[in-house]
Amino acid sequence: MKFGGTSVADLEKIRNVARHVRREVTAGHEVSVIVSAMAGKTNELVDWCEQACDDYDASEYDAVVASGEQVTAGLLALTLQDMGIAARSWAGWQIPVQTDGFHGKARIMDIPPDNLVAALDEGKVNVIAGFQGIGPDGRITTLGRGGSDTSAVAVAAALGARCDIYTDVDGVYTTDPRIEAKARRLERISYEEMLELASLGAKVLQTRSVELAMTYNVPLRVRSSFDDPDGPFQVTEDGRGPGTLVCEEDEIVEQQVVSGIAYSRDEAQVAIRKVKDKPGVSASIFGPLADAGISVDMIVQNVSADGEFANLTFTVARGDLKKALDVLAREKDNIGFGELASSDEVAKISVVGIGMRSHAGVASKMFRVLSEKGINIEAITTSEIKVSVLIDEAYLELAIRALHSAYGLDGA
Ligand code: ASP
Ligand code: MG
Repeated sequence: MKFGGTSVADLEKIRNVARHVRREVTAGHEVSVIVSAMAGKTNELVDWCEQACDDYDASEYDAVVASGEQVTAGLLALTLQDMGIAARSWAGWQIPVQTDGFHGKARIMDIPPDNLVAALDEGKVNVIAGFQGIGPDGRITTLGRGGSDTSAVAVAAALGARCDIYTDVDGVYTTDPRIEAKARRLERISYEEMLELASLGAKVLQTRSVELAMTYNVPLRVRSSFDDPDGPFQVTEDGRGPGTLVCEEDEIVEQQVVSGIAYSRDEAQVAIRKVKDKPGVSASIFGPLADAGISVDMIVQNVSADGEFANLTFTVARGDLKKALDVLAREKDNIGFGELASSDEVAKISVVGIGMRSHAGVASKMFRVLSEKGINIEAITTSEIKVSVLIDEAYLELAIRALHSAYGLDGA
């Protein structure tokens, strides 16, 4: 069981979490709980690091920001004990959650289950500080923002358990309900689709946690911690229950062609006009960007009629736009281009569904719906289970609602 920051925001909420744990214990399960820091705590800790030192040492940053989870783990263990449930807290290093040495964004290498299993054998609930581990040099590491989801899946994989993620929404929706009130909660979604949705800005789960669940085939359920802990809708043996189950695609009986529509406003577009259409030009543009740590997403190239020049348009994260423009200006002579233009008033919409593999016409429907609304498409990318378009941000909500309806996703 994993509980995010809003679910443990104060002592009353932690008591509510303890009641969810008690329900599972009473049902006869062995339980390990992974907790995040109280809502807002990690931001505050990050802030403190930034104020303490301009160019802070990442290993000390980890020592500071990992502390939020340790507080919650101890408090939940105390609350469980107060309810008469045997429980103990664990810091990452005590288990140990072994990670690589990339402070601030470490990856889990291994979690030997012995200590956790021994505590379960003694009848205890394990309460584990998420987000943190121990690096090869014995120092505290953290897993990147949102990393306690990944802690939870990794612990579930190590213990051969299922993983229930309790959060402040009651599942995964066909699109953002704040934009389209007719969005529906999905009963089930495949790992692959969830991976696309997670990386496209549906901020329910850390992307890494979904990758890990897919690799180790951990059944992952997203559900609300604000449901009545002792309410009637519990998870059954055959996988029915509250929230959304993220699982293998062959466990999904009623597969839709399109399962969900995701969007991202975190986009900026760069256009490089009049570059020579010859070998090596793309490398001279994207090489220096990669060296500067800037990832590029959508890329479109069009060639002029005489075939001599090309225009290149691509997208980067909004926060990287200035840096990207600086890099390109610096490389101007080397690349050789006419002019450079950019916009940060663009947004990306993606339709996602494993049914696309076997159904033609998903992309063409998307283009038709957008054209009927008079929305221009700036760039397109596709994968086997996803079509993404870049549009003017002003039309984002209109486009989402039109597509949601066109793909038959509207609920009652
Ligand atoms: N507390 C950490 C964060 O805010 C980890 C997490 O909540 O998943 O990013
Ligand atoms: Mg989170």
